[in-house]
Amino acid sequence: MEINFWDKEIETIDKAALKVLQLKRLKETVSCALKTQFYKPRLKKAGINSADDIKHWEDYKKIPLTTKDDLRECYPNGLLAVDMKDVVRLHTSSGTTGTPTVIYHTKNDINHWAELVARSIVATGATNEDVFQNMMSYGMFTGGLGLHYGAEKVGLTVIPMGGGNTKRQIQLMKDFGSTILHITPSYILHIHSKLGESGVELKDLRLRKAYLGAEPYSENTRKKVEQLFKIDVYNSYGLSEMNGPGVGFECAHKCGMHVWEDTYLLEVIDPKTGESLGEDKEGEIVLTNLTRRATPLLRYRTRDIAAIHKGLCGCKRTHRRISRILGRTDDMLIINGVNVYPSQIEEVIMRIPQVGTNYQIYLEKEGTLDKLVVKVEIYSKMFSGNLAEIDALKSRIVEELRASIIIHPAVELHEPGSLPVFEGKAKRVVDNRVKL
Ligand code: AMP
Ligand code: ZN
Repeated sequence: MEINFWDKEIETIDKAALKVLQLKRLKETVSCALKTQFYKPRLKKAGINSADDIKHWEDYKKIPLTTKDDLRECYPNGLLAVDMKDVVRLHTSSGTTGTPTVIYHTKNDINHWAELVARSIVATGATNEDVFQNMMSYGMFTGGLGLHYGAEKVGLTVIPMGGGNTKRQIQLMKDFGSTILHITPSYILHIHSKLGESGVELKDLRLRKAYLGAEPYSENTRKKVEQLFKIDVYNSYGLSEMNGPGVGFECAHKCGMHVWEDTYLLEVIDPKTGESLGEDKEGEIVLTNLTRRATPLLRYRTRDIAAIHKGLCGCKRTHRRISRILGRTDDMLIINGVNVYPSQIEEVIMRIPQVGTNYQIYLEKEGTLDKLVVKVEIYSKMFSGNLAEIDALKSRIVEELRASIIIHPAVELHEPGSLPVFEGKAKRVVDNRVKL
């Protein structure tokens, strides 16, 4: 396997040099944080009055954790560390679940972010010969613009289509021979189901790769997309608080996402106790952005659950890898007292070959008990078969789900195209239980 690098020196930096660089950058970030309304009193309270109070690499542990609620409290400028004239862009969250949050960027911040994306996509084998169709939304959501600038830096031909408008997406894929897509897992599955209808077939496309991210998905979904399109799928992880995409990305080896540790100080903690966990242990990812100057963010609790992989990757990059995101500390469902992540349900249904490309999870109250209903689209040819076959399929899905999540679900089989379609992040879970 040919290994390409964008910045070989930094991507293969040895551990000791990495720690020296991290410490230097942490000190710079702390200096910068001390200029903000939010961090100044916080850091002082923790005994950090200047960057000189961070002497050793381990000293990051003195810094208190930052949460999403802290960010909300800071809206709009409690975390702004530079003069507004030095800010070239800002991104806010939608605020649909409360006060929005905002992240400001200087010109250098944007440039460094694009560097991270450039490293990431070159690690998958992307070159200036690729045609890159970016199907992530542009605008406040960081998925679109985030990948855009990195892809241009590497010299790919970028089609900044954004999300939605499936027919046109497919037409553009064909007309310009798109070789790489950046897209959510749910939307790429939808695109596949619309190929025939739009008069375009797989053989008309030159697709080679897809970067899938923005929402959790299982290894089986990756395999399914790879088989359906005959392409390689790479997992891409990011969050707007840490810029956006380019935090973690799979290389050509596809065995976990390298987190760019010269920029992101990576920790995994026990979400209940806050205790730091070792490698290979699942917990909450905590990240410090070591390079952003407009909005410093220290030890940010992402609420994403993953584990750090042990050992070196075959690509020789020294930056450690994390597993796929297994769920979020806040999307965990408690069903009749049992903890279930939606990703566990997806893992099961996507390994069943008759299952199509869309599904939804419904939660309802039945008397005092919770009822879990999993609605699954199956391929239409199943509906022309006999009823016994459909019943058998239903029982199989129920059984496999029960074995995996311990709960006995109701399963409904639906025709392709009958469940709601999502062009951005999918809303897979509908919880109709009354919350007390
Ligand atoms: P946003 O800040 O709106 O971009 O949302 C970021 C969140 O999307 C992350 O904290 C994750 O929960 C989720 N996310 C992003 N990329 C992935 C991925 N590859 N796998 C699973 N979840 C992801
Ligand atoms: Zn690698």
